[in-house]
Amino acid sequence: MAVASNGPLLEKYLGLDQRGSVQAEYIWIDGFNQLRSKTKTLSKVPSCVAELSEWNFDGSSTGQAEGHDSDVLLQPVAMFADPFRGGGGGGDNKLVLCETYNPGNQSIQPAVVVITQLILNMIITTDGTPHATNFRYACKKVMDTYADAKPWFGIEQEYMLMDPETNRPYGWPRNGYPEPQGKYYCGVGAGKIFGRDIIEAHYRACLFAGINISGINSEVSASQFEYQVGPCEGLDMGDQLWIARYILDRVAEDFAVAVTIHPKPIQGDWNGAGCHTNFSTEEMRQDGGLAAIEKAIEKMSLKHFEHIAVYGEDNDQRLTGKHETGHIGAFSYGIANRGASIRIPRQVGKEGKGYMEDRRPASNIDPYRVTAIVLESSLGP
Ligand code: ADP
Ligand code: MN
Ligand code: MN
Ligand code: MN
Repeated sequence: MAVASNGPLLEKYLGLDQRGSVQAEYIWIDGFNQLRSKTKTLSKVPSCVAELSEWNFDGSSTGQAEGHDSDVLLQPVAMFADPFRGGGGGGDNKLVLCETYNPGNQSIQPAVVVITQLILNMIITTDGTPHATNFRYACKKVMDTYADAKPWFGIEQEYMLMDPETNRPYGWPRNGYPEPQGKYYCGVGAGKIFGRDIIEAHYRACLFAGINISGINSEVSASQFEYQVGPCEGLDMGDQLWIARYILDRVAEDFAVAVTIHPKPIQGDWNGAGCHTNFSTEEMRQDGGLAAIEKAIEKMSLKHFEHIAVYGEDNDQRLTGKHETGHIGAFSYGIANRGASIRIPRQVGKEGKGYMEDRRPASNIDPYRVTAIVLESSLGP
């Protein structure tokens, strides 16, 4: 039997006073592009992420280390209010996003690390090298290089709710299929929407946490939804999307429902799932910026397959040229064209400035890798 959380019963305990202690949920990305987390008690409310100490975990249980030398370090890099534990009336308990590092030989006193971080006003780790699965580290370098361009991103995360017992989409009949696609996109009413409670709870929880969530909608396939995060500048895009994903996994868990971000969860005439990545620089947002948008698209077109390489596993099942996608084998772009690799929104074409939409990234991307390559291809050599 699927075990859902018992809200009223839990309330009795979560209502107990924390007596000044704070719960910090350390979150990281594992070796399978999935999220993991564990909790640490703090003695006071942290005012910035640099105040949080490093931690570690057993990488042999997360696809990130061999059994004999399994410690992987957690370096806190971003902090959000915890919508699950609340705390102090306004979210004193925290969600803490971490980067992963290989442990080094010399051990540095945490106090020294904290002071160094404050001085440099950036997160550094003197304990070893970034873990092979730490794509934020390389992304930060790219974002720092082109920071003057003020790059903004907005990602549309599509996903499907799943019944963990049957491994079928949530609300679908046990045998057979719901009615064909057509009525589900932005649908209203019973028989069109399966799981609105979950998407509403996620939306509010994101707002509480401080995620720049710009909207939600139900999608073309039954039990498929989307939320948009952005515009976010630079590295913040990846941080916020990963935390929004974390919050969705946790909210759905409360309802005993699972979330899949596989790009083609159901074979056949059911839309796949993407992470359309909207992108602009300051120049593109200013009058006449369309020229800069077109120039960037020209440059990106030359690296189509390098982009595809980091645009998600199994994306070939989705980018078929059908279901509002451009074919994986060829680059294309156009104004208002939802069958292209890159679309310039109609409004942007009309105003002559704004942003572009890269429609190729799959729902299961690592946003650090995608935002980095988009920026580097657009502005780099
Ligand atoms: P679509 O019409 O493709 O479904 P959405 O409304 O779902 O578009 O998503 C648009 C996304 O574009 C949002 O995440 C929004 O934050 C983002 N966005 C808007 N303006 C910009 C901009 N200038 N630069 C980057 N992203 C932007
Ligand atoms: Mn959208
Ligand atoms: Mn969509
Ligand atoms: Mn879109």
